[in-house]
Amino acid sequence: MYAAGAENVKRKDYRRMIDNYGRKITYLRLSVTELCNLRCRYCMPENGICLKKREDMLTEEEMISAVRAAARMGINKVRITGGEPLVKKNIISICRNISSIDGIDEVCLTTNGILLPEMAADLKSAGVKRVNISLDTLDPEKFSHITRRNEHTGAMRGLKAALEAGFEKVKINAVLIGGFNDDEIPALAELTVRYPVDVRFIELMPMYDSGDFGKEAYISCSKVVEALPELLPVQPDGGVAELFRLPGAKGNIGLINPVSAHFCGSCSRLRITADGYIKPCLHSPAEFYIKGMNEEEMYGQLIRAVNAKPEWHGEMSAQARSRAGRNMNRIGG
Ligand code: SAM
Ligand code: SF4
Repeated sequence: MYAAGAENVKRKDYRRMIDNYGRKITYLRLSVTELCNLRCRYCMPENGICLKKREDMLTEEEMISAVRAAARMGINKVRITGGEPLVKKNIISICRNISSIDGIDEVCLTTNGILLPEMAADLKSAGVKRVNISLDTLDPEKFSHITRRNEHTGAMRGLKAALEAGFEKVKINAVLIGGFNDDEIPALAELTVRYPVDVRFIELMPMYDSGDFGKEAYISCSKVVEALPELLPVQPDGGVAELFRLPGAKGNIGLINPVSAHFCGSCSRLRITADGYIKPCLHSPAEFYIKGMNEEEMYGQLIRAVNAKPEWHGEMSAQARSRAGRNMNRIGG
């Protein structure tokens, strides 16, 4: 087991960044809550979830210790997610504290946007550099259907607030669902012409208990290229999305293909769930518990998690569901 003295607490150990398949682990997705103000059909059951007790969830101090330990290991980018991170009461303080950790160069956040009008400026002052907003449809009725909440106007206001707050980058994430929003590919893509945003289409993933989508719902992002023949390829930026641009657009179109063409070979991620488990892979059942541990113990668990990263996440389709054992709101998408 790794044992560190006080001086090691400050030292980065870059050897720990490399997993058994030669991948550099530099990116942590930290889920701060399982709760959400929406109930997206692919993410959460209709009646919400069976909540754990508050004392079973990571405290803010534990989250900060975990990120400190991760930064020593070579993590330099943290994405705050959930559940919906903006329903977490102390989210501004969490972002501020994480941004000030030595070695963390970038703090970003993924949100459904609904609470951004009142929080965007504070998030920016707390050090959040980039914001991803989830928006699957521009049609208010379809929005209410997929999220089971009547909040389309709130989400659009959130997008506007993010643009006005002056984040380095704003991206829109749309889960591509056959028979639901594939007819909106041109309209969603057109947002990159109207606003300085990237729009990323993400293939629907068959999570543990994430709705009864039929086979036809699981379509490949190649549909986006078919629907937009004018797309021009763009040099990859090191992220997981395949990039394109519409002529004259202000932002890129990204295709994220976890199902049809996984990007496991270049995976640089670890995840920490709000109830205190490190997940080496989104779709693997392997989990390493850190609740109640000090920074040194968490460091040891992070190393074990890196060593447990599988080579790839295995086959996924409408018939072959993810082996994660949790829905996305309980992992941190
Ligand atoms: N509540 C925030 C939001 O919606 O942006 C953050 C958490 S949410 C779990 C993160 C991302 O996961 C969202 O972009 C959501 O669309 C995506 N997601 C959730 N379930 C998914 C699934 N089954 N397949 C693909 N993407 C999914
Ligand atoms: Fe909430 Fe995000 Fe899941 Fe939708 S995708 S239910 S907004 S956590």
